[in-house]
Amino acid sequence: MKRRFIAGAVCPECGALDKIVRVEHGGTLWMECVACDMRKDLDAAPETPATQAAPGESKAVVWKPGKP
Ligand SMILES: [Zn+2]
Repeated sequence: MKRRFIAGAVCPECGALDKIVRVEHGGTLWMECVACDMRKDLDAAPETPATQAAPGESKAVVWKPGKP
């Protein structure tokens, strides 16, 4: 499972900034909000949500989970 924060993304549920994580697992793609547990499927969706990215904040944190 890959989890990656989407810099500049705003949660459509709670409005939190930089709390959206893009998750990829088993061919399925979705995004989650770590603040309110919102989850949204991103099947065949663009890599970034429909929110504008903040300029100068294009770096993303890559989570590398340990052993399962
Ligand atoms: Zn949220």
